[in-house]
Amino acid sequence: MDVRSIFTADSLLGAEPGHVIGGARRTEGSGDPLPVVNPATGEHVANVPSASAELVAEAVSLAVQAQREWGRRSHTQRAQVLRSIHTLLGEHAEEIGRIVAVEQGKPFRDAVGEIGGAQNFFEFAISQQYREIGEVLATESGEQLTVREVPIGVVGVILPWNFPAAIFARKVAPALMAGNAIVVKPSEFTPLSAMALAELCRRAGVPDGLVSVVCGPGRQTGAALVDHPDVGMITMTGSTRGGREIMRQAAEKLIPVSLELGGKAPFIVFPDADLDRAAKDAVDARLWNAGQVCTCNEITYVHEDVRDEFLERVRAHLRAVEPKDPFDPSSALGPLVADREWNKVKSMVDRAVEQGATLEMGGGRPEGEEFATGNWFAPTLLTGVTAEMDIARSEVFGPVLSLTTFASYDEVVARANATPYGLSAYVYSRNLHTVMRALDDLEFGEIYVNKAGPERPQGFHTGWKDSGLGGDDGVHGYERYVRRKTAYVGYGPEYGE
Ligand code: NAD
Repeated sequence: MDVRSIFTADSLLGAEPGHVIGGARRTEGSGDPLPVVNPATGEHVANVPSASAELVAEAVSLAVQAQREWGRRSHTQRAQVLRSIHTLLGEHAEEIGRIVAVEQGKPFRDAVGEIGGAQNFFEFAISQQYREIGEVLATESGEQLTVREVPIGVVGVILPWNFPAAIFARKVAPALMAGNAIVVKPSEFTPLSAMALAELCRRAGVPDGLVSVVCGPGRQTGAALVDHPDVGMITMTGSTRGGREIMRQAAEKLIPVSLELGGKAPFIVFPDADLDRAAKDAVDARLWNAGQVCTCNEITYVHEDVRDEFLERVRAHLRAVEPKDPFDPSSALGPLVADREWNKVKSMVDRAVEQGATLEMGGGRPEGEEFATGNWFAPTLLTGVTAEMDIARSEVFGPVLSLTTFASYDEVVARANATPYGLSAYVYSRNLHTVMRALDDLEFGEIYVNKAGPERPQGFHTGWKDSGLGGDDGVHGYERYVRRKTAYVGYGPEYGE
């Protein structure tokens, strides 16, 4: 795959990458440009400029102007524009999928699937044209008391790299539908997908300035966006560290934040589970996007009575997955996004082995000339993991299945809840009582029972504890993008009719 083929004069990216501000491509930068690197090969793809605080201010100022008109449009009128975006996403799915695969490393097939996921977020947002947008409350006669939703104004969207297209849509679609303007700050690793999507929005009829993209480092460009006085809300997906920094800054301005942060999902297999299904799902939920999903199976707890039967099945499924060039149609496992991530995952595996875990499979770079460059990490199996090991507590974000055993319901629930994170958990059992008790007792915002993900656009993706604050998707996610206005209208004789 020639990576330059994503840059052509009539492509969504145009001939050269740059910020998208007021509907125009801008290439001025402040400080060193950020290199975009193909994770599968290590090949340099492009240099992307970093936006200064002044450029961010320009994007916000154009957003303020564009929002005035957009916010006055009816929900139905906004939905028409979102419908055009949805259509164009379908038409450009392969083009954007290619960009996602080149900069993020997931198999092209999955990257095209990610664009389908982006469409689903627009589909749900479009459905909100029919939502109830307020309440009329009983009050005195001759008075009308209403509480209704209004847009926030300008929303700052800060993106991670693991789903650069789907998470753009997850946040931009409801924010637009609710009547806001948006300034997006994509991840340093994956800015190209956001640029392409902003251009797609422009072609779909989104007014200039309503959706801008400013690229650059989190603590420079991202911080300037959070700081800007006209940005009324920040929605961010990323690390707990980044989320904390953003929240501290936002506290000074007293603006709302919605933060989707990391996870350490326990995958719990009770002795009465369907072991075939549980083993397949445990591996799928671990290897999805090379393990770089906040809902991934981060630690597998299997009851000691069924440990050996389960492990045999897990080994078979893991062996069946081979890392392959993302553009090979049969590829199901790509590289990690960056060498920084590779080094982090490798050191976590090495540390687990030092602490007494058994490395049964993988553990680093797969064998073969095709994996000599790029950030390839073999599917890895660690057994004998115990609660004291670092790998049992910290997020791995890589294709490493860590297996530990438990003896009782109370033990596994206590160990699962002991993680600082609280995003997703998985429960496999055929016993209704076990399942219902676990749904009550597990301190996680999103629980999967006898099935793996992905989450659906009408659900509510919400992390507890260190996994975040707020949430995305569905009606609860949508509500993040509105504020409420109360009106008392006197119209009876006593009000001077
Ligand atoms: P990160 O926090 O380093 O970066 C995420 C985004 O935040 C980037 O755009 C970055 O530039 C920006 N950022 C970082 N610090 C900032 C600051 N101080 N001010 C403004 N912006 C700032 O995380 P990452 O490396 O992109 O992603 C990996 C992490 O994200 C993992 O921990 C993963 O679990 C988590 N994640 C969570 C979800 C979810 O839905 N909860 C989804 C994907 C990834």
